[in-house]
Amino acid sequence: MRAAIFERFNQPLTVREVPDPACPPDGALVKVAACGVCRSDHHAWSGNDPDVVLPHVPGHELAGIVIETGPLCRGFRTGDRVTAPFILGCGTCPDCRGGHPTICDHQHVVGFSAWGAFAEYLPVPRADFNLVRLPETLSFELAAAMGCRVTTAFQALAYRARLRAGEWIAIHGSGGVGISAIAIACAMGARVIAVDIRAEALDLARAAGAHEVIDATAVGDPGDAVRDLTGGGVHVSVDALGITDTFRNSIRSLRKFGRHVQVGMPVGPHVTVPLPLLELVYSRQIAICGSRGMPAAHFPPLLAMVEAGSLDLSSLIRRRIVLEEAGTALAALDRYSGAGITVIDRFTVAT
Ligand SMILES: [Zn+2]
Ligand SMILES: [Zn+2]
Repeated sequence: MRAAIFERFNQPLTVREVPDPACPPDGALVKVAACGVCRSDHHAWSGNDPDVVLPHVPGHELAGIVIETGPLCRGFRTGDRVTAPFILGCGTCPDCRGGHPTICDHQHVVGFSAWGAFAEYLPVPRADFNLVRLPETLSFELAAAMGCRVTTAFQALAYRARLRAGEWIAIHGSGGVGISAIAIACAMGARVIAVDIRAEALDLARAAGAHEVIDATAVGDPGDAVRDLTGGGVHVSVDALGITDTFRNSIRSLRKFGRHVQVGMPVGPHVTVPLPLLELVYSRQIAICGSRGMPAAHFPPLLAMVEAGSLDLSSLIRRRIVLEEAGTALAALDRYSGAGITVIDRFTVAT
């Protein structure tokens, strides 16, 4: 099969023939129809993910068609239109059996701990547990574009924060996952405040449905500004960036008993942050939880929102490219990624 591969970190991807993957006995072989290009792929490519072993094929936001199933796969057959979360669970450990494959100790992370979907075919192990059937009305490109940022935001709001209609929510950082969180929170009937330091990000936040926007550079303390605006603070606050400032602003935005969700992945100097334990956790009794990925079992309610039209993701895809352009698109993510998603939608040589 053809795959976009890198032999060394930070070196250009090359598209070349590699051996076709085998179908796992309990899995399915998926012919990739679309794959998103994400900042996390850049992270893997630049050598910042300890799971990545060279040479490597990135790509974790995929959708496609099942072309083969293993003898132990019961729920899928050739021709099924599918997607999969980027964290694949083992399906048998207590965490997976409890419905929580995103914390599985034996997880297989597509495009990180194994080769990803910048390729013609992707083997998906334990398909009955990990594959997700797509509605006929949902395009492969949109399903791929939802694969990481949208699903991560949905898991954080619907399952970790348990956001309810009518509640206030603040979203700190209007990058890809932040904009997804704004659109989902609006669709869930929450009242949304977007906080960012860039004017263009706040414009995108407004376009995604944010009811209020706060320029963090124009107010003394963004947490105080959110609490003033809401008469005491938001019920739910999200750090969609993972840096010390947005974490602090997020927990300071909360009302008593408020729930903070950490969605942005902290790296470098931000992995350990100060926490006002007495003022916020003990006295105001806030809750702090983390969120990473989304289990396959949580796709149906998200897909239903898209099918019903209550969550409009039509502006999500910014650019469609061929496999040969994946390396350039990946390298460009060094800079601010913006809200739109680039999707690879052609994998074979044009004839
Ligand atoms: Zn497991
Ligand atoms: Zn991603």
